[in-house]
Amino acid sequence: MPKRVFIKTFGCQMNVYDSARMADTLRPYGYIVADTSNDADLVILNTCHIREKAAEKVYSELGTIRRLKVAKTRRGGRMIVAVAGCVAQAEGDEIMRRAPCVDLVVGPQSYHRLPGLVARAQHDGDTHLLDTSFPAEPKFDFLPEASAPGGVTAFLTVQEGCDKFCSFCVVPYTRGAEYSRPVAQILEEARGFLSNGVREITLLGQNVNAYHGRGPGGREWRLGELIRSLAEFSGLERIRYTTSHPHDVDDALVAAHREVAQLMPFLHLPVQSGSDRVLARMNRLHTADDYRRIVERLRSARPDLALSTDLIVGHPGETDGDFQKTLEFVGEIGFAQAFSFKYSPRPGTPAASAEEQVPGAVKTERLAALQLLLTRQQRDFNSAFVGRTLLLLLEKPGRYEGQLIGRSPYLQSVHIPASADRIGEIVPALILSASVNSLAGSLAAVETG
Ligand code: SF4
Repeated sequence: MPKRVFIKTFGCQMNVYDSARMADTLRPYGYIVADTSNDADLVILNTCHIREKAAEKVYSELGTIRRLKVAKTRRGGRMIVAVAGCVAQAEGDEIMRRAPCVDLVVGPQSYHRLPGLVARAQHDGDTHLLDTSFPAEPKFDFLPEASAPGGVTAFLTVQEGCDKFCSFCVVPYTRGAEYSRPVAQILEEARGFLSNGVREITLLGQNVNAYHGRGPGGREWRLGELIRSLAEFSGLERIRYTTSHPHDVDDALVAAHREVAQLMPFLHLPVQSGSDRVLARMNRLHTADDYRRIVERLRSARPDLALSTDLIVGHPGETDGDFQKTLEFVGEIGFAQAFSFKYSPRPGTPAASAEEQVPGAVKTERLAALQLLLTRQQRDFNSAFVGRTLLLLLEKPGRYEGQLIGRSPYLQSVHIPASADRIGEIVPALILSASVNSLAGSLAAVETG
């Protein structure tokens, strides 16, 4: 009888990808993916450490899992509980100490060893298994072939880890040094996705445009070359990549935006602050002017390009003047979308122990002002499409009967009346209305782009 694994994913798309790969590693050992943790034989929490209170969320979830585990034991069964991901990496020992229901903890770079750890927990009765090492062998070399994503869009991790060490960020400590997968491995995975009906691939990496994989003939390929190569695959209609760093936007990538039609004109390019003083304190390796120049180059290559970004308010040392510069910068670049957060200290990062921490009330006030501006810009961006035609990739059923949700080139969700058999098609839609978070439209007769 197959065993059931329930995987709960917290955080970013990279964790979504990792969870799918964890399921891939377990499938040959008889595990099928379950929709709920009730009665699962194995529960994995794939955690994220980027946002505040991440660890608290994990402990609270573990409280629920513990009750399910006790109930299953009473029925004569066995539930193995695993914690994976960045909280596991950062707080493995603490998790073991505070949550005795956890049998094993595995870091983001060692989850290819999951089947062995699960077997030890299951057959040898070992508990308190901890593997948060950064193995010399890249895990991708040991993972089985990625299974079909089950939709028309797919994430594909091409790069992991980061060497940038921004003052506020835990990624270099939890995911380790920058690593790029070999070109051949990526192309093979993409081919597999396409043969299963995928039409859009988002290339993932913590610092995706730092990609530098070994290409044919041993030559080093950067992200721009990888995108060009993928664009030659028949059936791949759309390519995206995230998350990028301004410092690594090179000429080949700008040229890819100019010349590769499948590369969508929507780019997530985190800036974090509009003040050079704060950017220097953040160790961001770019100034506001550098960012302006990059955006100019990208927009001259692809005039219809829209940008989203990440912003942090209240980094240690941020003054009212610095914050004002961020507001002005946001307006000047005209971001179509953004993720904005109050700075919150991550233990072990340089900013956590910096002096001049900004009081909580000031951070709250600044975030509210910034989000007001961002919401207005996002609404204006969406409203500008009313009366125009956009090409949509029809992705999934909407909330109502006879409705589908499609994605525009700018990643906007667009609700349109259409039958489910059209999922996977790219269709022109006339946009009839817009709100901050989505658009509504109807199928249009002519493609106008
Ligand atoms: S570049 Fe991104 S992932 Fe790397 S340290 Fe900075 S914020 Fe973190």
